This record gives sequence, C-alpha cells and structure tokens, in this order.
Amino acid sequence: MARPAVAEINLKNIRANFKLASSLALNGKTLAVVKADAYGHGSVQVAKYLAQDAEVFAVASIEEAMILRASGIDQPILLLEGFFDADELEAISREGFWTAVHRQEQLDQIAGSSLAKPICVWLKIDTGMHRLGFSVEHAVKAYNELNSMPQVKNIVVMTHLANADDSLSKGVSVTTQLSQLPEFFSSPDIELSIANSAGILDHETARRHWQRPGVMLYGACPLAKSNAYSNTLRPVMTLKSEVIATRWVEPGESVGYGGRFVAERRTRVGTVAMGYADGYPRQAIEGTPIIVNGQRTQLIGRVSMDMLTVDLTDLPESDVGSEVEFWGEKISANEVATYCDTIAYHLFTGVTNRVPRKYIE
Ligand SMILES: *Cc1c(COP(=O)(O)O)cnc(C)c1O
Repeated sequence: MARPAVAEINLKNIRANFKLASSLALNGKTLAVVKADAYGHGSVQVAKYLAQDAEVFAVASIEEAMILRASGIDQPILLLEGFFDADELEAISREGFWTAVHRQEQLDQIAGSSLAKPICVWLKIDTGMHRLGFSVEHAVKAYNELNSMPQVKNIVVMTHLANADDSLSKGVSVTTQLSQLPEFFSSPDIELSIANSAGILDHETARRHWQRPGVMLYGACPLAKSNAYSNTLRPVMTLKSEVIATRWVEPGESVGYGGRFVAERRTRVGTVAMGYADGYPRQAIEGTPIIVNGQRTQLIGRVSMDMLTVDLTDLPESDVGSEVEFWGEKISANEVATYCDTIAYHLFTGVTNRVPRKYIE
C-alpha cells in the first residue's frame, strides 16, 4: 500500500481540448504550450501523447526544451521567454528550437553568432502587456534587422494579450492591443501569433497564423465568464486521495492548527492524506468544497503540510478508505481556486513531486 495521494491525468481529454483549440484556428496553426512541466501534468508524457497532433510545442526556456528532446520529442520547440545568454544559440540552432526575441541585445547576439543552421525566431512586440517585447515604435526596425540576418530563416511576429480573459477588467483591451500592431505586420507575408487560451476561446480577431493554447489544454477555462466553447473543455487532472482516519468532535471542540474550526454541532471529522506540501493550497478557506465518495462536503480547519480535514457528519457511509477528490472530474479547479484566492493555473502548477502522476488513456 502506498500513500493514496495521486494526480490522475486523463490524456484523452488533453487531446480533445487540443482539438477544440485547433478547430477554432480558422486558417492558422496551433502549437501546444507545455511549459512548467505541462502546467504540472508532466511535459514528457503530455508531449509524447500529443506528438501526433501538435506540430510544435512551446516551453519557457531551453532547459525545459532539452528535457523534451532527451525524451525523443523531435518537433520544433518554441522558447517563449527566449534565450537568456548568447551561449544558448548554438544549442537552439543544433536542436531546431525556435526562440522568442524581445530586446535589442538579443538581436545583436544573433547577428554576432555563427550558427550551423539558421534559426526560426519569434519577434515579441509589446502592444500593452508591458512585460516583454519591443516597443511598437521599434518593432518594424527589429523585424527588418532580423530579416536581413543569414542566421535567421523564418520570423513569426508575436504579441501577448493582457486581458483576453475578462472584457470588463481594468487595463488595456484586446482591441486596443491589436490596434497597436504596426500596419506593416498586416502584410499577408508575415505570420502573426496573438492568442493564448483566452484569446482563442473568446476573441476571434486574435486567432491568427499561430495559436498558443496553454491552460485550456488542461481543461481549465481562463475566462471570467465561461462561454459555449469553454463549456466543452474536459478536465484533465483529478487530484485525489483517501480518508485515513475519522473521529467525532463535540460542540466547542476545535480541529487542527490554530483552532480555526470550532464545532457548532457534533461533527464527524475525516482526516485526508493531502496537504500543502502536496500542492493543496494552505490559503483554502473554511468551507472550500471537497468531494468524498462522489458527494460534496467541505474543508474544515487549516490545511497542514501532509493532511487536511473534511466534514463527514452528513456522509455516514464515508469511512477510512473513502475516495476524496480535490479538483478534477467532479469539481473544477476553477471553482476550488475561487476559495483559495488564486487561479487554476496556480493550482495545477503547484502540485508537487511528492504526488505521483497516474496517466490514463
Ligand atoms: C504561457 C503562455 C501562453 C499560454 O497561455 P494560457 O493562458 O495558458 O493559454 C501563451 N503565450 C505565451 C507567451 C505564454 O507565456
């Protein structure tokens, strides 16, 4: 018997979600974003499974890309954060990686390199996110510079949306960001990439030559308000464990660290093998929904490192060994995230190595 905490990964559902993203592509292509260990789902397993569907993968850095190459993934892999040091260029060229470039120094480094094979570059333009990218004033010059370099064989122009998930939010709108793109880049000869998951699901104008879905592949809707497409996303990760002890506490008695939960009625407490060292957020508030034996109940008391406690008072059939689901098939990571002051992305990427991933096809 092993500790029962496990993250089940439903690979078929990743494929279905990828197909949804591709089907929304109009005339464009869709790469699969598998950075951060595929948002905690296991980048090698996910990329191997999607290798027949996705023509290109995207990760944050060359370290993440090398892990995929070493496991036999042979399609192009885009480095979304670009290279950090000129000495990465040789491996980028050799391994057929594609790289983002977002500042002048990187252009100079490419121009000064001697590469065995020319590389494919994604020129990042800052249209309002104000995180990475050339300013719109310098974007065309950067494009022309790259275009004249023998080290560069292909350029895709990329920008990233700050508020594709919420039309009512503060900050720069999708429409404003798109209007910032220099006219020069509307030439049919230039490939553009704009949409992340929220852009793909909710902004037809953002669906250009290359789409970059991440979180939607893992079944979470990034939109503040779900829509007809996002409602068809299928959950991929089901985080589970089991009840490992039960007891009754009397009214007035407390449970766990700090006595955050004090029983108002006679309460049957279930202790579950899952804690913040597994990635279940310590921020989870009193009443965060948890599924036991397929039925909804709730978190009581503080989450500790290796355990948490649930209310089993109204679930008399539950006992030691009962299955507990934290998010996945029966409750969405999005819903749980709202009780933890965070987002599904953070829940997925927070599941630690202590939790074995179990792949289901
Ligand atoms: C992570 C990332 C994506 C994917 O974003 P999702 O919101 O998960 O779809 C797309 N583009 C870039 C540049 C990214 O860094």
